[in-house]
Amino acid sequence: MKKGMTIIYPEYNGLYINLTNRCPCACTFCIRQRASGAEFDNVETLWLEREPTAREVIEAIKAESKTERFKSYKEFVFCGYGEPTEALDVLLEVAAFLKENFTLPVRINTNGLGNLVNKKDIVPLLAGKIDAISISLNSSNPEIYEKTVRPVFKEKAFPEMLKFAQEAGKVIPKVIMSTVETTITKEDEEECSRLCQKLGVSHRIRKFIDLK
Ligand code: SF4
Repeated sequence: MKKGMTIIYPEYNGLYINLTNRCPCACTFCIRQRASGAEFDNVETLWLEREPTAREVIEAIKAESKTERFKSYKEFVFCGYGEPTEALDVLLEVAAFLKENFTLPVRINTNGLGNLVNKKDIVPLLAGKIDAISISLNSSNPEIYEKTVRPVFKEKAFPEMLKFAQEAGKVIPKVIMSTVETTITKEDEEECSRLCQKLGVSHRIRKFIDLK
């Protein structure tokens, strides 16, 4: 597998930030499940040789901000082939830098298990530094969730993910939980909408993208 140091990359309308390849899950649909062979050898991948330091990420963003394409970005997004809260300290330092130096909103794409990963409540640490959080809900059914996401935290993961979303919804301006259309039943999808409403967060149904 080809590895590199792609710390930042343009995607959709945002500048995406790749902090880590670590993740406590093994989602059945994750590109990581298929990236162990030669499939990705000829493409620029987000597999990191090593995790970047906060200074390296900040320097990469500073350099990018001097380019013409920087003007086209609408947001910063912590994402990548891993769970960004696995690199919480770097994330917080970079997010503080972004808030101090730019006006673009800052979002995290997360599995919502950051509290379990870091063994503490990380929501207060994110408040004021992060404008939006996108959480993969996957299903309203704990058993389907666990079978799909295969978290190392087993049955603890689902309720903790919901708790994280609810608490984040109180202090982060935009919290969105997502499901992917056609991967769950219509009933489950409706139940996910009700669940999100109960938690005080938004529900987004994403389009299915077949990466095969
Ligand atoms: S949480 Fe995200 S990075 Fe982790 S296995 Fe699932 S899809 Fe992949």
